[in-house]
Amino acid sequence: EVVYLNGEWLRQEHATISVFDRGFIFGDGLYEVIPFYSGKFFLKDAHLNRLRYGLNQVHIDFDVSRLKPVLEEAVTKVKLGEQDGAVYIQITRGVAPRTHYYPENVTPTILVYAFPVALKGFDKRFVDVLITEDYRWHRCDIKATSLIANVAMNDEAIKNGFHETILHRQGVITEGSHSSIFFVVNNEVYTHPEGHYILPGITRKAVIDLCKKLDVVIHEDPLKIDQLSEVDEVFLTGTTTQILGVKSMIMNGEVCFKKQEAGEITKRLQHAFIALTAQ
Ligand code: PLP
Repeated sequence: EVVYLNGEWLRQEHATISVFDRGFIFGDGLYEVIPFYSGKFFLKDAHLNRLRYGLNQVHIDFDVSRLKPVLEEAVTKVKLGEQDGAVYIQITRGVAPRTHYYPENVTPTILVYAFPVALKGFDKRFVDVLITEDYRWHRCDIKATSLIANVAMNDEAIKNGFHETILHRQGVITEGSHSSIFFVVNNEVYTHPEGHYILPGITRKAVIDLCKKLDVVIHEDPLKIDQLSEVDEVFLTGTTTQILGVKSMIMNGEVCFKKQEAGEITKRLQHAFIALTAQ
């Protein structure tokens, strides 16, 4: 496997970084995951714009447009031909003596690689999720590599046989540990608004646009845990999650939501999404 590190394509075992890289020391870096369907990027510019936004927020000086040729190379290098996969991008502040403030004149560390992902068949799956408290920081809109809270939350789900952990802040459902979440109530769709408490999911935005196109009413309004009894459908979205129907939601061992099969609106959106990615 080859990876791009700071200007060169290297075999994975030859791609090394300094122990003083601030990504390693502090988690002082950002990442992005861009999918490709049959070798063709999907919503690439939206992903790059989110990365540009995050870099500006944390004052890492890097011109994201420099990645464009590297992304094309990444897909070729992985020798997947016309297959489905994704490109992982990580940009850290770079290597510098350890200080809590941002050091000056450091060169960001850039890592890029492509990997295969099974992007087909999500419409056939139906998953169980846990609900737990969202104890992440208050800037979840920044796609930072410091994901210790997210991995701890996801681990709890996986180790207990669930697909994902869904998070709430004081009873308000925000998103999943690595996915966005949508609810259908009386044929209208709800998802948490953008802001500091969620990552502005690229798939989330694509699904909002699909709702508008399909004349499905969409509200960017949050839902509370105690409203789950009124909910008809729940689905998750994400770059590698795509649109995944939720079968049950469990909190503190109690069932808050349960269905036998994915709902009609979930299915309509899944079909529309498949058509979109095939364009
Ligand atoms: N929310 C979080 C916390 C995530 O980590 C992700 C994706 O990794 C998402 C939402 C979904 O975002 P996207 O659709 O851009 O993949």
